[in-house]
Amino acid sequence: MPELVNQCQGCGWIGEDDALASRYPDIERLGMRTSPGEIIPSGECPECGALCHVVPMPKAKLNIFDLEYLLELCRSDCPPEENGESEAELMYDKIKLMAKEMFDA
Ligand SMILES: [Zn+2]
Repeated sequence: MPELVNQCQGCGWIGEDDALASRYPDIERLGMRTSPGEIIPSGECPECGALCHVVPMPKAKLNIFDLEYLLELCRSDCPPEENGESEAELMYDKIKLMAKEMFDA
């Protein structure tokens, strides 16, 4: 995955250079669409035609339901021990608690 992508300032579209409708400096009426001092756009949005700028690749948002599902998968891989809770079981509870705190904040 690329570290830098283009983001549309109009509709929020995000994509790589190849997907842009046009690329700097081949942007129509560029002078009229930017103000002095403005960051130079990287191109035009293929969706709405607004100007795009280079931004860092957004990090995927972690969803608590995905996380719980992953935890379930991990736990089901570890058979419980005979006397009491296994280490995996304890770890599961700990991580789940931490995740709850993170998402509630
Ligand atoms: Zn757009």
